[in-house]
Amino acid sequence: MKVKVYEDLCVSCGQCISICPDVFEWGDDDKAVAKIEEVPADQESLAHEAVEGCPTAAIKEE
Ligand code: SF4
Repeated sequence: MKVKVYEDLCVSCGQCISICPDVFEWGDDDKAVAKIEEVPADQESLAHEAVEGCPTAAIKEE
């Protein structure tokens, strides 16, 4: 599983970072970024939760 944050859609709510800090972090411009592209198996459930929880659907699973 891979995740990517589309920064133009991110509204900097911080929810993905709260849910899954091992995968998401703040990047430049106070937008969330995926700090690792390939999500480890033990983080997939949380990463998926972050994807589902993003209010603007800015995170895509690949
Ligand atoms: S949950 Fe979505 S809108 Fe909120 S910081 Fe993460 S990517 Fe941005």
